[in-house]
Amino acid sequence: MRRRPLTWLIPALATAAAVTATVVLVPGGEGRDPDGRTAPAAHGERPAGKGKPDARDVVLAVHGGAGTALDRDKTTPEREKAYRGGLAEALKAGQKVLDKGGSSVDAVQAAVQRLEDNPLFNAGKGAVFTADAGHELDASIMRGSDLKAGAMAGVKSLRNPVAGARAVMDKSPHVLLSGEGADDFGARHGLKTVTQDYYWTQARWDALMAAKEAERGGKGGRKGSADSPAAVADAQSKGTVGAVAVDGRRDLAAATSTGGMTNKLPGRIGDSPLIGSGTYAKNSTVAASATGAGEVFIRGAATSTISNLMEFKGVGVATAAYEVIVKRLPGLGGDGGVIALAPNGEFDAPHSSPGMLHGYLTKDGKVVTKIFPDETPPNS
Ligand code: ASP
Repeated sequence: MRRRPLTWLIPALATAAAVTATVVLVPGGEGRDPDGRTAPAAHGERPAGKGKPDARDVVLAVHGGAGTALDRDKTTPEREKAYRGGLAEALKAGQKVLDKGGSSVDAVQAAVQRLEDNPLFNAGKGAVFTADAGHELDASIMRGSDLKAGAMAGVKSLRNPVAGARAVMDKSPHVLLSGEGADDFGARHGLKTVTQDYYWTQARWDALMAAKEAERGGKGGRKGSADSPAAVADAQSKGTVGAVAVDGRRDLAAATSTGGMTNKLPGRIGDSPLIGSGTYAKNSTVAASATGAGEVFIRGAATSTISNLMEFKGVGVATAAYEVIVKRLPGLGGDGGVIALAPNGEFDAPHSSPGMLHGYLTKDGKVVTKIFPDETPPNS
C-alpha cells in the first residue's frame, strides 16, 4: 500500500501554532494594555468590516438622533445653522467642564442637558408625543471607572431627565426609577419640575398628527413617498440625544436622553434608559450612546455588545461599533446609530439609518458637526 504523504500535517501544525499564538497574544481575550488602550487585534480575530475610526483624539462627542430628518436640498441655511449650533453649544457646555478639570460624567450631563433644553431635539423640551398626546421621557447616565449608573423612565415632570438619572446614580442604591417614583425622587432632590405643556412643540404635535393619519391609512401623500404621513411622522420622531466623554484621568462616561418614539403606547420604555442597550461606559473599552429603533437596540443589547466585542475579541472601537450597528442590528428589523469613544480618543459614529446628527470635540479644541447624510454616509 502506498503511504500517504504527510502534507496534511503542515496545515494542522500551522493551525495549532496560530491558536497558541492567539492565546498568547490576547490573554484572557483582553487585547488591551494596562492603560486601557486598545491593542491591535490578533490576525484572524477581527470581525470583518470597518477598522478605521472616524476621528482620533476626541474627548467629547454628542448625537442628536439617527434618521432622515435633514435633507441637504430641503434644509434652509437658518435651519442648518440651528442644528449645527445646537450640537456645538452642547459640545461647548461639556468642554467647559473638561477644561476646568471636571469629570467626564459632569461633561456628558452638561452636554445632554443643553440638548434637552433645545426644542429642536427629541429630549426634554421638544420631546415627542405618546399615543395619548402626553410626554414620557427616558434618560440614563453611566460612569466607566466603577460601572455606576443611573436612569429614569417614563418621566413626566422633570425639566432635565438626565439630571434625574444622575441623581439616581449618586443618591440612591438603585439604577433605574420609573414613572411617578422617578418624578418624585427628582423633585425631592431639588431638580427643576415642569408641567407637561413645557415639552410641547408644534413640530412634534404635527408628527403625532401625521402618525395618527398614517394609522388611519394616510390620505395625504403617496404611500411610501417622502411626504406620506408615515414618512413625516418617522422623520420628525427622531432627535434623541446623547453624549460620550473621556476626561483627564482617562475616565469614560456616557449619557442618553429621549422622548422616545412618536405615538408610542403610554408606558412604553425604549433603549435609552437601559444600561447596556442605549448607554454604556466602561473604562477599559468604550463609552457609547445609541439612537434608533429602541426595541431593536434592547433586543440586540447594543452598547454592551460593543463593549464586549472590544473586551473579549480585542477589536478596536470602530470595528466593534460597526459590527453591532451595521451588521447585526438591522437583521432584527430596525435601524439607528451610535456614538462610541475609546479611552485613547478613537471615535466612531456608525449608523444603519440614512443619517445621524452628531458632533465631536478633539483635545486641541476643534469642534466638528455632521448633520447631513452625505457627511455621515451609512455603512462606512
Ligand atoms: N431610541 C429611542 C427610543 O426608542 C428613539 C430614538 O433614538 O430615536 O426611545
